[in-house]
Amino acid sequence: MQRRPIILLPETLRNQIAAGEVVERPASVLKELVENSLDAGAARIDVTLEGGGVTRLVVQDDGAGIPAGELELAVTRHATSKLSSAADLFRVSSYGFRGEALPSIASVAHLTLTSRFREAEEAHRLEVEFGTLVEQGPAALAAGTRVEMRRLFAATPARLKFLKSEATEAKRCQETLMRMSLARPDVAFSLTLGGREVFRLPGGQDLRARLAQFWPPAVTTDLVEISRTHTHPDGGDMTVSGLAGRPSRAQNRPDRLLFYVNGRPVQDKLIMRAVRDAYKGRLLSGEYPQAALFLSLPPEEVDVNVHPAKLEVRFREEGAIIALVRHALAPVAVEDAVADPVQGYGQGQGQGYGDQGDGNPYGRPYGGPQGTYGGVSGGVSGNAWSQGEKPGLWRASQEFRSPPAERHVPLPLSPGQPSPFHQSGQPGGHGDSFAQHTPDAGHRAGPLFAAGDPTTLSQGGLEYLGQIAGTYLVLRQGAGGDEGRLVLVDQHAAHERVILENMRRARTGGDSQPLAVPLELPLHSSEAERAQEMWQGLRDAGFQLDLSAEGKGGGRLFVRGVPPSLPTGRATEFLREMLSDRSAGLETLWILLSCKSAIKAGTELARDEALALLEAWLATADRDHCPHGRPIAVSWGAQDLERIFKRK
Ligand code: ADP
Ligand code: MG
Repeated sequence: MQRRPIILLPETLRNQIAAGEVVERPASVLKELVENSLDAGAARIDVTLEGGGVTRLVVQDDGAGIPAGELELAVTRHATSKLSSAADLFRVSSYGFRGEALPSIASVAHLTLTSRFREAEEAHRLEVEFGTLVEQGPAALAAGTRVEMRRLFAATPARLKFLKSEATEAKRCQETLMRMSLARPDVAFSLTLGGREVFRLPGGQDLRARLAQFWPPAVTTDLVEISRTHTHPDGGDMTVSGLAGRPSRAQNRPDRLLFYVNGRPVQDKLIMRAVRDAYKGRLLSGEYPQAALFLSLPPEEVDVNVHPAKLEVRFREEGAIIALVRHALAPVAVEDAVADPVQGYGQGQGQGYGDQGDGNPYGRPYGGPQGTYGGVSGGVSGNAWSQGEKPGLWRASQEFRSPPAERHVPLPLSPGQPSPFHQSGQPGGHGDSFAQHTPDAGHRAGPLFAAGDPTTLSQGGLEYLGQIAGTYLVLRQGAGGDEGRLVLVDQHAAHERVILENMRRARTGGDSQPLAVPLELPLHSSEAERAQEMWQGLRDAGFQLDLSAEGKGGGRLFVRGVPPSLPTGRATEFLREMLSDRSAGLETLWILLSCKSAIKAGTELARDEALALLEAWLATADRDHCPHGRPIAVSWGAQDLERIFKRK
């Protein structure tokens, strides 16, 4: 092969190569331009897109502007006003510093840069077509800078091919601007897509108000403010602040987890890991909490110069970052554990979070990211038992209150022997509650058990003993000897399972219970969009709905009928949650509907109600887990009890 001599590449080609890294698609152009506007101190930024940002993309700001004499430098590679020495590179406080964006964009598109420097009498403009300066001169612009990019990649068809549909590219631009706008709620932003205004965000907002422009109220109203600072011995504080959702509000979508480092939106695995740690054991597999977290670090603690588009960053002290994020999020998780008896199952309540070495003070009640709830095979591993032990009384009371997950043993319920259930105790013994026989009953606020006689169920050799805490049904399996087990059934979870199976069977019916007075729900625009997508599914489930475009935002939803299983009072709650979850499919709809239809934790059940529920539950095909994957029943055999009582 004939060798060609080494040559210096022409300027235009060099810029095109560099553009390969910086300018991937319209959204990356948008990001660079908006960053420049923010660096210029803009208080308002207006973005206009046509053809998904490929045909035309305009960013106009009211920032400081560029002096006419520097316009040409602005589109020259490695020319920047933000950096002048290597030392600066490690103390970057502006978004830009590489001096690459404008020349890169100019090399792969048609770029018109118009700017009026603060004290200048008139504006100037400069036009570059695919790397060639074509025009320059005075122009009309009241203030700030206007960058217009047209015909992206028109001269490089190979790169054009990598772009997705117009709608997808537009969506990415929208997402990019949304993320950036959350970092600066003080700045006003607007986005116009193909002549249609998609959003207009006023300046001077706080984070919650800004988030409420994008996320539905069902999500934003419950977000908890977090803030934590780590003071570094060598000086320079690290702070994490923002808003975060409770684990009980988690959704099956990762896109409502936003991270920022020194104001830059990043997709960072390390922060993700820290968040996962913080919520460990509180989420089902596939669930994500909502959060917008802002890390602010001394510039020398973080290297933002590892990715050309600066999407990734590198931390100097990774361990410190993980600990900081975890501690900051801890109160959101712990509060939830105390507030909700069902969610709080198996949690070490009252245990300080910060002093944990192993990062998992909670045990692993739902199996966490591993996805399966402990011990499908029935083995009692007992390791959570001995982990993180504290001496003395604390441990004893803790164990008693919150059996660790690993001790969940699936019921060895044999499906056979369908015998009609019968009452085994004497029929007349009501009021004869266990509480009265319990030695310390007098010291408790209420009766320990609210129940009468043991009752044998038709399957599994189970006897119903009573209800505890208005939430758990207490059963005994296999009366005597070593074989006996103590069983607790979560009434809400069991009922969910029953309803889901019934609904699955009757799914085609779409029975609806008409409402005498229709419910009326004002919708956020994101909710209205969801309602339209889910329309058929909601109708199939038994909702009779009308959507009216009148009113603010997304108009109003009229509910004229609800599924028969759903208590009318919970219809609004169901719809709000359903419509706030953009990723939810039909399956989620049925699961959520069964959840909202099921009896809640904290509901006293009469004995016949409890028995009917248990029988229905025993007849279901999948009785170990509720539709969310939580266990329905936990049980303890003689050996487990021996351990609890320290007999061995
Ligand atoms: P960088 O942002 O890394 O410095 P760019 O190529 O994005 O590189 O921009 C080059 C220079 O042009 C910037 O340093 C800045 O001085 C100027 N500039 C670009 N956009 C604007 C704007 N919207 N307002 C004021 N100055 C701008
Ligand atoms: Mg820049």
